[in-house]
Amino acid sequence: MSKFLDKRYDSLAAYVPGEQPQDKKYIKLNTNESPYPPSPETLEMANRGEAELLRLYPDPDGKILTKKLADLYGVETENIFLANGSDDILNFSFMAYCANGRKSYFADITYGFYSVFANLHGSDYTEIPLEEDFSIDYKKFCGVDGGVFIANPNAPTGLAMTLSQVEEVIKSNPDYVVVIDEAYVDFGAESAVNLVKKYDNLLVIQTFSKSRSMAGARLGFAIGSKEIINDLHKLRYSTNPYNINRLTLSLGAAAIDSQSYYTDNCKKIIDTRAYATKELENLGFEVLPSKANFVFAKSDKIDGGELYLKLKDKGILVRHFTKERIKDFNRITIGTQAEMEALTEKIKEIITEAV
Ligand SMILES: *Cc1c(COP(=O)(O)O)cnc(C)c1O
Repeated sequence: MSKFLDKRYDSLAAYVPGEQPQDKKYIKLNTNESPYPPSPETLEMANRGEAELLRLYPDPDGKILTKKLADLYGVETENIFLANGSDDILNFSFMAYCANGRKSYFADITYGFYSVFANLHGSDYTEIPLEEDFSIDYKKFCGVDGGVFIANPNAPTGLAMTLSQVEEVIKSNPDYVVVIDEAYVDFGAESAVNLVKKYDNLLVIQTFSKSRSMAGARLGFAIGSKEIINDLHKLRYSTNPYNINRLTLSLGAAAIDSQSYYTDNCKKIIDTRAYATKELENLGFEVLPSKANFVFAKSDKIDGGELYLKLKDKGILVRHFTKERIKDFNRITIGTQAEMEALTEKIKEIITEAV
């Protein structure tokens, strides 16, 4: 830290993203990227001359994509907000609704960025413990006195709440914004998007990073009441009106045009998830029932941190968290069938070597 840095950032612990090693080729099961490439239409769009137009600023309203998303989700364009990854929207949400001593509530085990943004913006935040089985007791999020942030399905557990539980949380907090982070919803959970028409305090956040194979393009979106979306635009225009670059905007629009390609990929990933869960269970792992494109698993034959290191040695990256309550687990992204077969082979070797 330099002596110039504002003192209020002294104790800020920044988010630590999963490794993106550039040295050797790993089977990457550590950051929940899709194992499948973007759709042929998306790739074709990349070659269609948009790059030549890079001398021009992009459309700050992203109209082409906003319209397609509004049609796909059955809302008005005024209900849609685009951002440079959904992290960008989480940042704006804490800034707008939970900053400078205002309260926020999220689970103790959830997406690690919530507490980072809460700290960054000086939110008075409370981490609500998950139940013994790592599920969220929705009642503990009802009638609180601050903004609510829930990842559904939750990360890194993969467990999902039902839509009616989500609705109870929204309904019981009419004076506070409830953010439902649906980064993984396309892998089998129920979306709250349709509740946007009913509740003006709901903000649903989704991303192109997971189910639409575009983590590298940085594209997220939110669906909410016109008033909330306007708040977010105000903050966006006060920071970076051109937050979506031209290439990402055109590729995002092409991705929406190839929706069926992506729903097919999600089906494949759901099938592979069932396969990987069964294989891991056969190897003696406890695997939480996941509705996401990853599984959260632990074995009493091998320590979580040790398994992570040994898999890395063998060329497979998974995600291990050192937080006390989950340190026995690893979060394993669902890759292709072949990648999950390689994973179970390597785990077998490791377990045999260990005894
Ligand atoms: C991956 C992830 C995000 C961030 O996604 P980007 O759109 O790539 O910024 C947000 N929330 C959760 C729960 C995630 O797992």
